[in-house]
Amino acid sequence: MSQYSSQQALNPDVEVQCDLRSDTVTRPDAAMRAAMAAAEVGDDVFGEDPSITRLECTLAERLGKDAALFLPSGTQSNLIAMLAHCGRGEEVITGRDYHVYKYEAGGASVLGGCVLDPRLVEPDGGLNADDVGRAVKEDDAHHPISRLLSLENSHNGMAVPLARCIEVVNVARSAGLSTHLDGARFFNATVALQCGEKALAAPFDTVSICLSKGLGAPVGSVLVGPSDLIAKGRRLRKMLGGGMRQAGVLAAAGLYALEHNIARLAEDHARAAELKTVLEDVGVTDVRGDTNMLFLHAASEVQNRLVESFTATGVKINVSKDEPVRLVLHKDVSEAGFATLLQAVRQI
Ligand SMILES: *Cc1c(COP(=O)(O)O)cnc(C)c1O
Repeated sequence: MSQYSSQQALNPDVEVQCDLRSDTVTRPDAAMRAAMAAAEVGDDVFGEDPSITRLECTLAERLGKDAALFLPSGTQSNLIAMLAHCGRGEEVITGRDYHVYKYEAGGASVLGGCVLDPRLVEPDGGLNADDVGRAVKEDDAHHPISRLLSLENSHNGMAVPLARCIEVVNVARSAGLSTHLDGARFFNATVALQCGEKALAAPFDTVSICLSKGLGAPVGSVLVGPSDLIAKGRRLRKMLGGGMRQAGVLAAAGLYALEHNIARLAEDHARAAELKTVLEDVGVTDVRGDTNMLFLHAASEVQNRLVESFTATGVKINVSKDEPVRLVLHKDVSEAGFATLLQAVRQI
Protein backbone atom coordinates (compact mmCIF):
# COMPACT_ATOMS: atom_id res chain seq x y z
CA MET A 1 0.00 0.00 0.00
CA SER A 2 1.31 3.45 -0.75
CA GLN A 3 0.47 6.95 0.36
CA TYR A 4 -1.80 7.14 -2.67
CA SER A 5 -4.28 4.45 -1.67
CA SER A 6 -6.31 5.34 1.38
CA GLN A 7 -8.01 2.89 3.69
CA GLN A 8 -9.61 5.55 5.87
CA ALA A 9 -13.32 4.79 6.24
CA LEU A 10 -14.90 8.24 6.57
CA ASN A 11 -18.42 8.33 7.95
CA PRO A 12 -20.66 9.85 5.24
CA ASP A 13 -22.64 11.63 7.98
CA VAL A 14 -19.56 13.52 9.18
CA GLU A 15 -18.82 16.65 7.18
CA VAL A 16 -15.26 16.88 5.83
CA GLN A 17 -13.45 19.60 7.80
CA CYS A 18 -10.15 19.49 5.96
CA ASP A 19 -8.36 17.28 3.47
CA LEU A 20 -4.76 16.55 4.43
CA ARG A 21 -4.17 13.77 1.88
CA SER A 22 -2.11 15.98 -0.40
CA ASP A 23 -1.54 19.53 -1.59
CA THR A 24 -2.70 18.32 -5.02
CA VAL A 25 -6.30 18.62 -3.74
CA THR A 26 -6.07 22.44 -3.91
CA ARG A 27 -8.63 23.92 -6.30
CA PRO A 28 -8.26 26.97 -8.50
CA ASP A 29 -9.90 29.89 -6.67
CA ALA A 30 -12.01 32.65 -8.23
CA ALA A 31 -9.06 34.95 -8.98
CA MET A 32 -7.10 32.13 -10.62
CA ARG A 33 -10.16 31.16 -12.69
CA ALA A 34 -10.53 34.79 -13.78
CA ALA A 35 -6.88 34.78 -14.93
CA MET A 36 -7.55 31.54 -16.83
CA ALA A 37 -10.66 32.97 -18.47
CA ALA A 38 -8.74 36.06 -19.59
CA ALA A 39 -5.75 34.14 -20.99
CA GLU A 40 -4.52 34.87 -24.50
CA VAL A 41 -4.12 31.55 -26.29
CA GLY A 42 -2.88 30.04 -29.55
CA ASP A 43 -1.70 26.71 -30.89
CA ASP A 44 1.29 25.81 -28.72
CA VAL A 45 2.41 22.96 -30.99
CA PHE A 46 3.00 25.76 -33.53
CA GLY A 47 4.72 27.75 -30.76
CA GLU A 48 1.89 30.28 -30.86
CA ASP A 49 0.43 30.29 -27.36
CA PRO A 50 1.59 33.54 -25.75
CA SER A 51 0.55 32.48 -22.24
CA ILE A 52 2.56 29.25 -22.40
CA THR A 53 5.55 31.09 -23.84
CA ARG A 54 5.31 33.64 -21.06
CA LEU A 55 5.15 30.92 -18.38
CA GLU A 56 8.16 29.13 -19.87
CA CYS A 57 10.20 32.35 -20.14
CA THR A 58 9.23 33.42 -16.63
CA LEU A 59 10.37 30.20 -15.00
CA ALA A 60 13.54 29.89 -17.08
CA GLU A 61 14.47 33.43 -16.09
CA ARG A 62 13.60 32.99 -12.40
CA LEU A 63 15.66 29.82 -12.12
CA GLY A 64 18.56 31.17 -14.18
CA LYS A 65 18.26 28.67 -17.06
CA ASP A 66 18.13 29.12 -20.86
CA ALA A 67 14.76 27.58 -21.63
CA ALA A 68 11.68 25.80 -20.30
CA LEU A 69 8.93 23.43 -21.38
CA PHE A 70 5.32 23.32 -20.13
CA LEU A 71 4.08 19.79 -19.47
CA PRO A 72 0.86 18.18 -18.29
CA SER A 73 2.37 16.51 -15.21
CA GLY A 74 5.43 16.22 -13.02
CA THR A 75 5.75 12.57 -13.92
CA GLN A 76 6.02 13.44 -17.61
CA SER A 77 8.46 16.23 -16.79
CA ASN A 78 10.79 13.88 -14.88
CA LEU A 79 10.41 11.21 -17.56
CA ILE A 80 11.30 13.64 -20.34
CA ALA A 81 14.27 14.90 -18.33
CA MET A 82 15.61 11.36 -17.88
CA LEU A 83 15.04 10.49 -21.56
CA ALA A 84 16.68 13.74 -22.66
CA HIS A 85 19.74 13.12 -20.49
CA CYS A 86 20.11 9.35 -20.96
CA GLY A 87 20.10 6.88 -23.83
CA ARG A 88 19.22 3.19 -23.64
CA GLY A 89 21.45 1.26 -21.24
CA GLU A 90 22.45 4.45 -19.47
CA GLU A 91 21.94 4.91 -15.78
CA VAL A 92 20.18 7.33 -13.45
CA ILE A 93 21.51 7.37 -9.88
CA THR A 94 18.72 8.48 -7.54
CA GLY A 95 17.13 7.88 -4.12
CA ARG A 96 15.10 4.77 -3.43
CA ASP A 97 12.34 6.83 -1.79
CA TYR A 98 12.36 9.45 -4.53
CA HIS A 99 9.37 9.91 -6.79
CA VAL A 100 11.29 9.09 -10.01
CA TYR A 101 12.08 5.64 -8.65
CA LYS A 102 9.02 4.80 -6.57
CA TYR A 103 6.00 6.53 -8.08
CA GLU A 104 6.47 6.88 -11.83
CA ALA A 105 5.66 3.35 -12.95
CA GLY A 106 9.25 2.79 -14.04
CA GLY A 107 8.66 4.99 -17.09
CA ALA A 108 12.32 5.77 -17.77
CA SER A 109 13.08 2.02 -17.90
CA VAL A 110 9.94 1.01 -19.79
CA LEU A 111 10.04 3.77 -22.40
CA GLY A 112 13.69 4.81 -22.46
CA GLY A 113 15.65 1.66 -21.57
CA CYS A 114 17.28 3.55 -18.68
CA VAL A 115 18.66 1.74 -15.65
CA LEU A 116 17.91 3.25 -12.23
CA ASP A 117 20.26 2.76 -9.28
CA PRO A 118 18.21 3.66 -6.18
CA ARG A 119 20.41 4.69 -3.21
CA LEU A 120 19.47 5.01 0.44
CA VAL A 121 17.99 8.42 1.28
CA GLU A 122 19.44 10.05 4.41
CA PRO A 123 17.12 11.32 7.20
CA ASP A 124 17.41 14.92 5.92
CA GLY A 125 16.07 13.88 2.50
CA GLY A 126 19.43 14.10 0.69
CA LEU A 127 21.78 11.42 -0.62
CA ASN A 128 25.17 10.56 0.84
CA ALA A 129 28.04 11.93 -1.27
CA ASP A 130 30.36 8.95 -0.66
CA ASP A 131 27.56 6.55 -1.46
CA VAL A 132 26.84 8.34 -4.73
CA GLY A 133 30.56 8.21 -5.50
CA ARG A 134 30.45 4.42 -5.00
CA ALA A 135 27.32 4.14 -7.16
CA VAL A 136 29.04 5.66 -10.21
CA LYS A 137 30.11 2.74 -12.39
CA GLU A 138 33.52 2.31 -13.97
CA ASP A 139 33.77 2.32 -17.73
CA ASP A 140 33.56 -1.45 -18.12
CA ALA A 141 31.55 -3.56 -20.56
CA HIS A 142 29.75 -5.24 -17.63
CA HIS A 143 28.15 -2.06 -16.31
CA PRO A 144 25.47 0.33 -17.43
CA ILE A 145 26.87 3.76 -18.29
CA SER A 146 26.32 6.12 -15.36
CA ARG A 147 24.89 9.25 -16.93
CA LEU A 148 22.63 11.22 -14.57
CA LEU A 149 22.21 12.04 -10.89
CA SER A 150 18.58 12.82 -10.03
CA LEU A 151 17.84 14.45 -6.64
CA GLU A 152 14.56 15.61 -5.07
CA ASN A 153 13.88 18.82 -3.12
CA SER A 154 11.83 19.11 -1.04
CA HIS A 155 11.64 15.38 -0.25
CA ASN A 156 8.92 14.03 2.05
CA GLY A 157 8.48 17.44 3.63
CA MET A 158 12.22 17.94 4.18
CA ALA A 159 13.89 20.93 2.55
CA VAL A 160 17.39 19.71 1.74
CA PRO A 161 19.95 22.48 2.38
CA LEU A 162 21.76 23.86 -0.66
CA ALA A 163 25.17 22.85 0.72
CA ARG A 164 24.02 19.22 0.95
CA CYS A 165 22.85 19.29 -2.68
CA ILE A 166 26.13 20.83 -3.85
CA GLU A 167 28.17 18.22 -1.97
CA VAL A 168 26.45 15.35 -3.79
CA VAL A 169 26.28 17.14 -7.15
CA ASN A 170 30.05 17.80 -7.02
CA VAL A 171 30.72 14.07 -6.75
CA ALA A 172 28.49 13.38 -9.76
CA ARG A 173 29.96 16.25 -11.79
CA SER A 174 33.53 15.16 -11.21
CA ALA A 175 32.54 11.72 -12.54
CA GLY A 176 31.10 13.38 -15.67
CA LEU A 177 27.41 12.90 -14.82
CA SER A 178 24.64 15.37 -15.62
CA THR A 179 22.25 16.44 -12.86
CA HIS A 180 18.47 16.75 -12.56
CA LEU A 181 16.34 18.02 -9.70
CA ASP A 182 12.80 16.78 -9.14
CA GLY A 183 11.59 20.05 -7.67
CA ALA A 184 7.90 19.19 -7.57
CA ARG A 185 7.87 21.30 -4.39
CA PHE A 186 10.90 23.45 -5.30
CA PHE A 187 9.29 26.61 -3.93
CA ASN A 188 8.48 24.96 -0.60
CA ALA A 189 12.23 24.35 -0.38
CA THR A 190 13.26 27.91 -1.33
CA VAL A 191 10.74 29.38 1.11
CA ALA A 192 11.74 27.04 3.97
CA LEU A 193 15.48 27.46 3.39
CA GLN A 194 15.14 31.19 2.61
CA CYS A 195 17.31 30.39 -0.37
CA GLY A 196 17.29 32.15 -3.73
CA GLU A 197 15.57 30.34 -6.59
CA LYS A 198 18.58 30.67 -8.89
CA ALA A 199 20.90 29.45 -6.14
CA LEU A 200 18.86 26.31 -5.42
CA ALA A 201 18.56 25.54 -9.14
CA ALA A 202 22.20 26.31 -9.98
CA PRO A 203 23.75 22.90 -9.17
CA PHE A 204 21.40 21.20 -11.64
CA ASP A 205 21.28 21.06 -15.43
CA THR A 206 17.52 20.55 -15.40
CA VAL A 207 14.84 21.24 -12.78
CA SER A 208 11.23 20.06 -12.82
CA ILE A 209 8.60 22.14 -11.02
CA CYS A 210 4.95 21.30 -10.26
CA LEU A 211 2.34 24.04 -10.47
CA SER A 212 -0.45 21.73 -9.32
CA LYS A 213 0.72 21.01 -5.76
CA GLY A 214 0.81 23.72 -3.10
CA LEU A 215 0.85 26.45 -5.75
CA GLY A 216 -2.80 25.64 -6.40
CA ALA A 217 -2.95 25.43 -10.22
CA PRO A 218 -5.22 22.68 -11.57
CA VAL A 219 -2.68 21.16 -13.98
CA GLY A 220 0.88 21.54 -15.08
CA SER A 221 4.59 21.21 -14.58
CA VAL A 222 7.54 22.98 -16.12
CA LEU A 223 10.96 21.57 -16.97
CA VAL A 224 13.76 24.16 -17.12
CA GLY A 225 17.27 23.71 -18.43
CA PRO A 226 19.73 24.35 -21.27
CA SER A 227 18.32 25.09 -24.74
CA ASP A 228 19.55 21.88 -26.38
CA LEU A 229 18.05 19.60 -23.72
CA ILE A 230 14.76 21.50 -23.70
CA ALA A 231 14.58 21.26 -27.53
CA LYS A 232 15.12 17.50 -27.17
CA GLY A 233 12.43 17.52 -24.47
CA ARG A 234 9.99 19.26 -26.82
CA ARG A 235 10.39 16.43 -29.34
CA LEU A 236 10.00 13.83 -26.57
CA ARG A 237 6.86 15.55 -25.30
CA LYS A 238 5.33 15.31 -28.79
CA MET A 239 6.39 11.65 -29.03
CA LEU A 240 4.74 10.90 -25.68
CA GLY A 241 1.51 12.55 -26.78
CA GLY A 242 1.95 15.54 -24.48
CA GLY A 243 1.89 18.29 -27.12
CA MET A 244 -0.96 20.66 -26.20
CA ARG A 245 -2.83 23.25 -28.24
CA GLN A 246 -4.63 26.21 -26.57
CA ALA A 247 -3.32 25.20 -23.16
CA GLY A 248 -2.59 28.83 -22.34
CA VAL A 249 -5.65 28.71 -20.07
CA LEU A 250 -3.62 26.28 -17.94
CA ALA A 251 -0.41 28.29 -18.23
CA ALA A 252 -2.34 31.36 -17.05
CA ALA A 253 -3.22 29.46 -13.88
CA GLY A 254 0.48 28.68 -13.45
CA LEU A 255 1.50 32.31 -13.99
CA TYR A 256 -1.12 33.39 -11.46
CA ALA A 257 0.23 30.81 -8.99
CA LEU A 258 3.82 32.00 -9.41
CA GLU A 259 2.76 35.56 -8.71
CA HIS A 260 0.36 35.00 -5.82
CA ASN A 261 0.90 31.62 -4.19
CA ILE A 262 4.62 31.27 -3.48
CA ALA A 263 5.12 33.65 -0.53
CA ARG A 264 2.04 32.18 1.17
CA LEU A 265 3.66 28.72 1.31
CA ALA A 266 5.26 30.06 4.52
CA GLU A 267 1.76 29.93 6.08
CA ASP A 268 1.49 26.21 5.29
CA HIS A 269 4.93 25.67 6.82
CA ALA A 270 3.98 27.64 9.95
CA ARG A 271 0.80 25.57 10.33
CA ALA A 272 2.76 22.35 9.91
CA ALA A 273 5.16 23.52 12.64
CA GLU A 274 2.22 24.37 14.92
CA LEU A 275 0.65 20.98 14.24
CA LYS A 276 3.97 19.31 15.03
CA THR A 277 4.08 21.07 18.44
CA VAL A 278 0.53 19.96 19.26
CA LEU A 279 1.36 16.39 18.21
CA GLU A 280 4.39 16.44 20.49
CA ASP A 281 2.20 17.73 23.33
CA VAL A 282 0.05 14.59 23.11
CA GLY A 283 3.08 12.32 22.93
CA VAL A 284 3.53 11.86 19.20
CA THR A 285 7.21 12.69 19.12
CA ASP A 286 8.79 11.12 16.06
CA VAL A 287 7.38 13.63 13.56
CA ARG A 288 9.45 14.58 10.52
CA GLY A 289 9.08 17.40 8.01
CA ASP A 290 10.07 21.03 7.96
CA THR A 291 7.90 22.35 5.14
CA ASN A 292 4.19 21.72 4.52
CA MET A 293 4.20 17.99 5.23
CA LEU A 294 4.56 15.93 8.35
CA PHE A 295 5.31 12.22 8.55
CA LEU A 296 4.32 10.47 11.75
CA HIS A 297 6.63 7.65 12.69
CA ALA A 298 4.74 7.11 15.95
CA ALA A 299 4.04 3.82 17.68
CA SER A 300 1.06 2.28 15.94
CA GLU A 301 -1.20 2.40 19.00
CA VAL A 302 -0.98 6.22 19.15
CA GLN A 303 -1.26 6.35 15.39
CA ASN A 304 -4.47 4.30 15.49
CA ARG A 305 -6.00 6.70 18.05
CA LEU A 306 -5.06 9.65 15.86
CA VAL A 307 -6.62 8.07 12.79
CA GLU A 308 -9.80 7.31 14.77
CA SER A 309 -9.97 10.90 15.99
CA PHE A 310 -9.42 12.27 12.48
CA THR A 311 -12.06 9.96 11.05
CA ALA A 312 -14.61 10.94 13.73
CA THR A 313 -14.07 14.68 13.16
CA GLY A 314 -13.95 14.68 9.35
CA VAL A 315 -10.20 15.12 8.81
CA LYS A 316 -9.35 13.34 5.59
CA ILE A 317 -5.97 11.60 5.47
CA ASN A 318 -4.25 8.80 3.62
CA VAL A 319 -3.90 5.74 5.77
CA SER A 320 -1.86 2.84 4.58
CA LYS A 321 -0.59 -0.15 6.45
CA ASP A 322 3.11 -0.14 7.35
CA GLU A 323 3.68 3.43 6.16
CA PRO A 324 3.92 6.53 8.33
CA VAL A 325 0.83 8.75 8.36
CA ARG A 326 1.38 11.77 6.11
CA LEU A 327 -0.31 15.09 6.88
CA VAL A 328 -0.14 17.77 4.19
CA LEU A 329 -0.98 21.43 4.81
CA HIS A 330 -2.08 23.61 1.91
CA LYS A 331 -4.00 26.75 1.01
CA ASP A 332 -7.43 25.06 0.95
CA VAL A 333 -7.25 24.13 4.64
CA SER A 334 -9.53 26.80 6.12
CA GLU A 335 -9.07 28.50 9.50
CA ALA A 336 -11.99 26.47 10.88
CA GLY A 337 -10.63 23.27 9.34
CA PHE A 338 -7.23 23.84 10.89
CA ALA A 339 -8.78 24.52 14.31
CA THR A 340 -10.79 21.28 14.04
CA LEU A 341 -7.61 19.43 13.12
CA LEU A 342 -5.72 20.71 16.19
CA GLN A 343 -8.75 19.83 18.35
CA ALA A 344 -8.82 16.32 16.89
CA VAL A 345 -5.17 15.86 17.87
CA ARG A 346 -5.63 17.32 21.36
CA GLN A 347 -8.51 15.00 22.18
CA ILE A 348 -6.50 11.83 21.78
C1 LIG B 1 3.76 15.07 -7.29
C2 LIG B 1 5.18 14.79 -7.51
C3 LIG B 1 5.69 14.59 -8.81
C4 LIG B 1 4.84 14.64 -10.06
O1 LIG B 1 3.57 14.24 -9.93
P1 LIG B 1 2.39 14.40 -11.01
O2 LIG B 1 1.24 13.94 -10.21
O3 LIG B 1 2.75 13.52 -12.13
O4 LIG B 1 2.30 15.83 -11.42
C5 LIG B 1 7.04 14.36 -8.93
N1 LIG B 1 7.84 14.34 -7.86
C6 LIG B 1 7.41 14.54 -6.61
C7 LIG B 1 8.37 14.54 -5.48
C8 LIG B 1 6.05 14.76 -6.40
O5 LIG B 1 5.61 14.97 -5.15
